[in-house]
Amino acid sequence: MNKEVSRRTIVAGNWKMHGSRVANQELLQSLTALMTKDNLSTEVLVFPPSLYLDGVSKQLADSDIGFGAQNLSEQAKGAFTGEVSASMLKDLNCGHVLVGHSERRSLYNESSKLVAEKYKAALEGGLIPVLCIGETLAEREAGQTMDIVFRQLDAVLDVVGTEGLSQGIVAYEPVWAIGTGMTASPEQAQEVHHDIRSHLRELDEALAANMQILYGGSVNGQNATQLFAMSDIDGGLIGGASLKADEFFQICKAAG
Ligand code: PEP
Repeated sequence: MNKEVSRRTIVAGNWKMHGSRVANQELLQSLTALMTKDNLSTEVLVFPPSLYLDGVSKQLADSDIGFGAQNLSEQAKGAFTGEVSASMLKDLNCGHVLVGHSERRSLYNESSKLVAEKYKAALEGGLIPVLCIGETLAEREAGQTMDIVFRQLDAVLDVVGTEGLSQGIVAYEPVWAIGTGMTASPEQAQEVHHDIRSHLRELDEALAANMQILYGGSVNGQNATQLFAMSDIDGGLIGGASLKADEFFQICKAAG
């Protein structure tokens, strides 16, 4: 299936709470070596734990790989023990930040309202937010997938409007596919991506045409090509497979 509009693909690796200084260095060394051999047209990003961002920033200074944080505070600064602000991430040269990952929503009770505030804080701090949205298995089985996804998207639109949303990236990640090995089929994923784009089109034609919508949920070297061939899938947010340089690189190649 051909993409009608030329949106640049993105492959983003969410390292979650994995790694160490040595392991990160080795992973990035392998990845940068693989990437210099091939001329990839896709944008490649990594999201290490915040503690390691400074080291990653130094190591990636001369590379084409971008990086960002997995989370940020909705507050700009002040007495918020344990939190990290957008300006601090910017200070470490981060370009992007994940907001609303399903693990943050479910394990740390982040509401859609809070996720929207974080999205806004990211934009105000000069970062590109990657908004993660997706339904649980129970919600899918109850036929509520699009209700949930639209609700999560609309919460952000309510706070930053179409102009704000257009400055970020959306990642559709069905919760039942994250870390389970149970990926959505290319058709299942395409259906949701298509509906998200149609939802955006009702608000703004250009927003819908230009929005990069990534798929996430057990993407690996085997299934990436078929998923990324779908017309509304503009790349992927990769968890487990982003920790293995060879496989992550294979996924990047599948995206272009
Ligand atoms: C994720 O953490 O965003 C993710 C998609 O994980 P995995 O690829 O391991 O399912």
